[in-house]
Amino acid sequence: MPRPILATIHLAALRHNLDRARRAALDARVWAVVKANAYGHGIERVFDAFRGADGIALLDLAEAERVRALGWRGPVLLLEGVFEPRDLELCSRLGLWHTVHCDEQIDMLAAHKTQVPHRVFLKMNSGMNRLGFAPERFRAAWTRLDALPQVDEISLMTHFSDADGARGIAHQVEVFERASRDLPGERSIANSAATLRHAATTRADWVRPGILLYGSAPDFPEHDAAHWQLQPGMTLAAKVIGVQQLQPGDTVGYGSRFMAEQPMRIGVVAVGYADGYPRHCTTGTPVLVDGVRTRMVGRVSMDMITVDLGPVPEAGFGSEVTLWGRAANGAVLPIDEVAEAAGTVGYELMCAVAPRVPVAVEPLDAQ
Ligand SMILES: *Cc1c(COP(=O)(O)O)cnc(C)c1O
Repeated sequence: MPRPILATIHLAALRHNLDRARRAALDARVWAVVKANAYGHGIERVFDAFRGADGIALLDLAEAERVRALGWRGPVLLLEGVFEPRDLELCSRLGLWHTVHCDEQIDMLAAHKTQVPHRVFLKMNSGMNRLGFAPERFRAAWTRLDALPQVDEISLMTHFSDADGARGIAHQVEVFERASRDLPGERSIANSAATLRHAATTRADWVRPGILLYGSAPDFPEHDAAHWQLQPGMTLAAKVIGVQQLQPGDTVGYGSRFMAEQPMRIGVVAVGYADGYPRHCTTGTPVLVDGVRTRMVGRVSMDMITVDLGPVPEAGFGSEVTLWGRAANGAVLPIDEVAEAAGTVGYELMCAVAPRVPVAVEPLDAQ
């Protein structure tokens, strides 16, 4: 018997979330962002759910090759562009569109020999100060690109630092619009948070949702996934493999971090930090046992956690434990709540599910 732990990828939920992005983005085209192996879900596994996207965006060239190998003929965008000259050969061969965010990338393009001119997305640094040309240098970069025979169409893009928070995006939208006002070309500015929260001010030709596709709220805890009508794209579940009866004063696990104040039953669950369950979770982190909400107690070990079976007296050896996602009875534990308990974000938990965890794909039903 394999160890009783399983990650399940819910294709119908992923497709629902893509539709949700489409409805939020009015008439924009939608890039499905599948970087980091589809935020840990697996590019090959999620592909069927995202066939309805207008394009696939990612940043690793090997992942772009995998998307083409799946038979995807539509647009593929490299969100960080190329890293070295030979990457441009792959772009020519596979018809990849690529971001251009610095002079070195223009130099590489100018030296690239190709029969097929490339579609590029020229990126402005409108205030995040990660990738992109400064606003006052944007036009010069555009002019230089426009003069290259290697370049076909030039689109314009930027990225927001605070679309999920109080600062918002207005200051960056203003910078972007001012510095690109009379340049031709399609625009792409919104990530998940901007797509959901700022649809009116980010009207553009293309949106770039990532995290929302996987069912995590980009602005948790201000809003949760249910608020945005997002469904969990992944469930991480395990089983109870042992039960302990505690008396007052008994402690649980390494460091005796939890002490029983009254008689209680503890379930030992086959998941630990070696599976990607965050070790930063402490007593109180929510879990579902047989679809009933309860809490983790004590420390996360490499291969086990311990949970309070108080709210589920009928539970015992073999009971289903949902670490995040959807339980068999339909109850949902949002990944964002677990991430918050670990002092991180849903993104990190999804991306960190360990290779040793077996994965099942719940197919799209053929209705
Ligand atoms: C990752 C990424 C996105 C998607 O961001 P989410 O917050 O996951 O929606 C969009 N644009 C760029 C440039 C990115 O790198």
